[in-house]
Amino acid sequence: MIEEEAARRVRALMNKNGLRRWKLGIEDNRFDLGRTSLSKREIRLSREFIALNDWDEVYKTAIHEMAHAKVNNPAESHGEDWRQAAIALGDPDPEDGVWDDKPGFNSPLTSKDIDDDPVLMMRMMLHDMENKVGYMQAEGTVYF
Ligand SMILES: [Zn+2]
Repeated sequence: MIEEEAARRVRALMNKNGLRRWKLGIEDNRFDLGRTSLSKREIRLSREFIALNDWDEVYKTAIHEMAHAKVNNPAESHGEDWRQAAIALGDPDPEDGVWDDKPGFNSPLTSKDIDDDPVLMMRMMLHDMENKVGYMQAEGTVYF
């Protein structure tokens, strides 16, 4: 979908759900669909992911990241509090994987896949760590 349209809709979702003061960034990122920095109070979505997917997918990813923001607990990651937050935000079946079977993002993913694959395990640890301490700056970030 069109990046500006995705950003407009996600921004509205964030505002409606008490995240008006959180930043929304769209960044060049071919690995993560989205990322959240609790320390920077910032949600970022992948430009490539948005370009290759429709609103249903972007919506689910926005909810995934917004749930991290709402729980706002570095120790929590994708636990029960996160899951309940995602459900409350509007995704009845939240996915805990960072990666998914999305066009342009070719890793499948369930918690079991991640447990069985050391590379995926490392990526998940990085995702969790970024949620805790803030991620490295990515290229091409535009804020909305
Ligand atoms: Zn996550």
